[in-house]
Amino acid sequence: DTAVCAPLPVLGRDVTVPLVTGGEVTYAALDYAASAPALQRVWDDVAAYAPYYGSVHRGAGYLSQLSTDLFENSRATVAEFLDCRADDQVVFTRSTTDSLNLLASALPEGCQVFVFETEHHASLLPWGDGARVTCLDAPRTPEQAVTTLERALADRDPYGPALVCVTGASNVTGELWPVRELAAAAHAHGARIVLDAAQLAPHHPVSVQELDVDWVAFSGHKLYAPFGSGVLAGRADWLRAAKPYLAGGGASRTVARRPDGAVDVEWHTTAARHEAGSPNVIGVYAIASACKALTEAGFDSLVAREQSLVSAVRTGLAAIPEVTVLSLFGDEAPRVGVISFVVQGWNSSHFAAALSAEYGIGVRDGLFCAHPLVRTLLGSDPQDPGECGAPEAAPGEKSLNAIRVSFGAGTPDEHVERFLDAVR
Ligand code: PMP
Repeated sequence: DTAVCAPLPVLGRDVTVPLVTGGEVTYAALDYAASAPALQRVWDDVAAYAPYYGSVHRGAGYLSQLSTDLFENSRATVAEFLDCRADDQVVFTRSTTDSLNLLASALPEGCQVFVFETEHHASLLPWGDGARVTCLDAPRTPEQAVTTLERALADRDPYGPALVCVTGASNVTGELWPVRELAAAAHAHGARIVLDAAQLAPHHPVSVQELDVDWVAFSGHKLYAPFGSGVLAGRADWLRAAKPYLAGGGASRTVARRPDGAVDVEWHTTAARHEAGSPNVIGVYAIASACKALTEAGFDSLVAREQSLVSAVRTGLAAIPEVTVLSLFGDEAPRVGVISFVVQGWNSSHFAAALSAEYGIGVRDGLFCAHPLVRTLLGSDPQDPGECGAPEAAPGEKSLNAIRVSFGAGTPDEHVERFLDAVR
């Protein structure tokens, strides 16, 4: 019953692109899952701040103090956006990939890591070698995801530390994962859990406390704030005990040269421990601005609007016999505005190129940095390293890669209608 809001104003709405068939058309950005356009509000906030730009934590001047305040207030805004616990830390990073690599560098000695093979490579790869990582089979229902995890955790050394890494919404199928249930399973077996919210946070409210996850990672550029920043938020203990992610100024509290020539360092125990170097205050401010803009717009109406587009795309694609939509949990499974598909008789890369060249529509083709998942969904061998890129499927053979359409808070109905017309 929630009112569907108008699309939020984003940059790039008036960009026109040439068509190979002649003339030009306004660009339809339907690749939000890769990078979403900046919200106009984020751009306005950044532009208003820009003349006051100064160094963070490194200056007595007024603009430096102002920048430091904005930076630290942004931390509080993000903590509120994620509904963090009072003693959680919010660490600013470059991206989700950076956040998960930071957490990987902070794992306690002997930590076992559990990931599903369906994860984005940013969640699959940072944890180290095979001895430490257990890669779980792709589940075919959300319930199976939970039982698969429970079984794997029950088999582990119950006294050692363990971490589960799971996506909230798939960057390939858009499907929602049962995060709360997976967190409960992890905790019941004494493991911790990090949520890869790169695709969830732009589309759904994320509550660390309600989901009961230990950490959350997301990227600014997928949350309508494309200025090179990301977030890792959650439990302070592992982060505080870990070696600083980068060694340098800002992470160190005191540094002194000893008489024997060695250097003694006392590192910060706050988020600053992992934020050495001058931070990206514009990027951080932009993330906070996006968090505020989404909260003020109201996730209920944003979700209602996005879901109306999801159903239009689903219904439209389902009516085209040559199209197969990829899904792990079934066609009706709840999903965000991220939908991948293949078209019989078409190489996916050629199809995506035609959408761009003939219709001015920007989608993505390929394996979406989730090679084992896409291979499983296409019915090829998830264990076969194969070729990345744009392999040619001979006529009549199954596709080796897919096309992904993705959208969000700034997408007008017209873009989705143009996309469906073009596919038809
Ligand atoms: N996780 C998921 C689910 C993603 O979709 C992406 C980006 N495609 C990432 C992690 C990595 O994000 P980034 O490239 O911003 O580090």
